[in-house]
Amino acid sequence: MNRLDQTGAAAAPSPASASGPLRLDVVTIFPDYLRVLDLSLIGRAHADGLLDLRVHDLRDWTHDRHRTVDDTPIGGGAGMVMKPDVWGAALDNVLAAPLPAAPASAECAEPAEAASLPAPRRVLVIPTPSGELFTQRTAENLAGADQLVFACGRYEGIDARVAEHYAASGVEVHELSIGDYVLNGGEAAVLVMIEAIARLRPGVLGNPESIVEESHTGAGLLEYPVYTRPVAWRGLDLAATEPVLLSGDHARIDRHRRDQAVSRTAVRRPDLMARLDPARLDAGDRAALTRNGWVAPAGAAHPVPLVVRPALEADLPALADLAARTFPDACPSFLTSEQIAAHIAVNLSPQRLATWLADPRVVLTVAELPDGLPTPPEVPGTSLPPGALVGYSAVVAESLDAAGALPAGLDPRPPSVGVPTGPDGVGGLAAELSKVYVDARLRASGIAPTLLAEAVCDAATMGVTALWLGTNDANRRAQKAYRRAGFRKVGTRTYEVGGERCRDVVMVLNPQETVA
Ligand code: SAM
Repeated sequence: MNRLDQTGAAAAPSPASASGPLRLDVVTIFPDYLRVLDLSLIGRAHADGLLDLRVHDLRDWTHDRHRTVDDTPIGGGAGMVMKPDVWGAALDNVLAAPLPAAPASAECAEPAEAASLPAPRRVLVIPTPSGELFTQRTAENLAGADQLVFACGRYEGIDARVAEHYAASGVEVHELSIGDYVLNGGEAAVLVMIEAIARLRPGVLGNPESIVEESHTGAGLLEYPVYTRPVAWRGLDLAATEPVLLSGDHARIDRHRRDQAVSRTAVRRPDLMARLDPARLDAGDRAALTRNGWVAPAGAAHPVPLVVRPALEADLPALADLAARTFPDACPSFLTSEQIAAHIAVNLSPQRLATWLADPRVVLTVAELPDGLPTPPEVPGTSLPPGALVGYSAVVAESLDAAGALPAGLDPRPPSVGVPTGPDGVGGLAAELSKVYVDARLRASGIAPTLLAEAVCDAATMGVTALWLGTNDANRRAQKAYRRAGFRKVGTRTYEVGGERCRDVVMVLNPQETVA
């Protein structure tokens, strides 16, 4: 006999799991459709008593000669609607069924204790394309039930009063859709749901580890791509494309896979970004997000889109404001606010920024939040409006214009910065990475490394062979970020802010080597 009990009569389950078997009742006019549940892991879980699976023929609750389950729609229209009286009789019966095996603790309980046990959680699931979307969260929730009763619709669906009646009677009712498309009947949807729910029950999967970090679990990322032997197959050689996976360095492999999971999710399912939990993202995740056009600042409810693009004339007022706001953060503490203001008035004025924008030797880049940053309820006052600029960078090339002048605002290149020849052995060009600043509210969200990577790429395109910068020698955080991007310290310089002499560390990188 098929392991599925198609009559609904009590099929004695094997011994229950510690939490008792999950009872699954499927009511359908096509019981044979559900026979596939007899196969594979679900079939084995049923045989092992982890699931108590019953399939019922809805027509067993009809009373007419033709075993009628449908009628024409009240109000007119195409198709047929499934009758509430037939469904009511079926569901009353199935929802009242005694559950097959009480939890182990209840079996040994004294009668008084047994009486105080919570009532079993029975859930009525009605698949419908107009239901709420069935997701991994839904599966996790339903995996905690004691009984799931699935009502498979056909034709135009089940009379809407069925869901209404059972919800009003205190039954937990879920009308669920498995996706935005229309099937002929609920059976295929129920197969999908049962498979997703049952594999979360203890003991159903051989290796419980395999459900810990899957797509849609944990932080809500899609899974990274997976590979197996042979290493090279039809010209696709993992030694060339995925060398980290063959390195044996498990920390690097974990980081690499996590980066791939973040990229995949951002590219394939941007709709999932709103459901990502920033609290479950680490610094590496944030950097991977920004590389893919999203940013998850600390305290944000979810990641928001980030655009890194060339600055435009329309950006100038906001850019000047951002520059004035962010410059003081990088200054040593002994500078007075007057000295800082004097520096900003000359070097970060809207006029200076406009001059840079008009100069082809300067690449001015901005980081913009096109949708802004909504205020998380628990962190009031941190919101930013759509289109807010939150970071910028400036690369200023050391080349002369037609009048023989260097770009405005280019600092003198320190003697410690040599200019190597280009890849073809000729020329060589120096440029100052004059600015990389990020709004304090978005610090450590991965924007600075993204702006840095962009600046290095732009410099490479311009033919720069020595991209150098000066940063205050007390600002260890900035130096660390530059080191991570490939810059190395070559010396120091003195830098004046509002007439006060400050000591800078000088760092350099050859973009031709980095980008190649
Ligand atoms: N007239 C319905 C509508 O437009 O919403 C569609 C009815 S459909 C042809 C028949 C049955 O298939 C539904 O009652 C439901 O049980 C099932 N079904 C179809 N698409 C589904 C989906 N995306 N998710 C879950 N069940 C679905």
